[in-house]
Amino acid sequence: MKNLSNKIAVVTGGSRGIGAAITRKLAAEGAHVIFTYQNSAEKAEALADDIKNNGGNAIAFAADSSNPSDLQNVIEKTVQQFGKIDILVNNAGIYVGKPFENYTAEDYQSTMDVNVRAVFLGSQEAVKHMPQGGRIISIGSNMAENSIGPQTTLYTMSKSALQGFTRGLARDLGPKKITVNLVQPGPINTDMNPDNTEFADFLRTRMATGEYGKSEDIANAVAFLASEESGFITGSFVTVDGGFNA
Ligand code: NDP
Repeated sequence: MKNLSNKIAVVTGGSRGIGAAITRKLAAEGAHVIFTYQNSAEKAEALADDIKNNGGNAIAFAADSSNPSDLQNVIEKTVQQFGKIDILVNNAGIYVGKPFENYTAEDYQSTMDVNVRAVFLGSQEAVKHMPQGGRIISIGSNMAENSIGPQTTLYTMSKSALQGFTRGLARDLGPKKITVNLVQPGPINTDMNPDNTEFADFLRTRMATGEYGKSEDIANAVAFLASEESGFITGSFVTVDGGFNA
């Protein structure tokens, strides 16, 4: 039997990048995965089809993480169809990098809405339907502990909030045998952080490995935290960054 057979997983922002790799990995481990997207409908449908063609179960769902009713909708639809949510992966995130003086109130709001509020509200909805053994896994950033350089204030602030969220909620949900953990990626080659730029060359100089990671590196960590074997790990931060923060 696969590790996550009979588990129902919801992944936010699964159409591309790290979220797509997490969706693939959880489905390969036997979970039924419901994953959201905002704009990339074609990519999302292609991913769901590909997973199904390979014997897995995945459903793409349009839901803007910055819209609380969209989040509520995806949780409700999942519960209507499957009766529960075992695993929630809060992956969707955005990066707005600017000199501090240039940030607008809209930049602040959009970043906090997707990177923080959606994690809080999505988790609140999901735990209502999460049985013992449930897992809440959020995708933060190694920048919560190492802001790297200028123009990172807003993003770093938002990802640091997930550390407090993870600590607090682990204590709330411990008695219910639900674990809450944070995976903190370093440089991973995606649309958000392509590995072929001058900035990428700079980032590589700061890494122990000297090489960018792949989305699958993050998906592997998430799959472990989603599995039964990780049951004693909660309130923890797992940094997966090729030694960037070492
Ligand atoms: P990408 O920009 O490559 O992909 C983002 C994904 O999130 C897409 O599927 C996108 O959907 C979805 N998304 C964005 N905004 C919303 C929204 N409002 N509602 C629903 N879905 C949304 O990002 P990555 O894969 O690189 O990043 C994934 C996570 O990992 C983020 O939380 C990011 O902060 C974090 N991270 C990434 C690092 C990296 O180096 N790549 C390093 C550290 C952390 P759509 O396709 O529809 O636009």
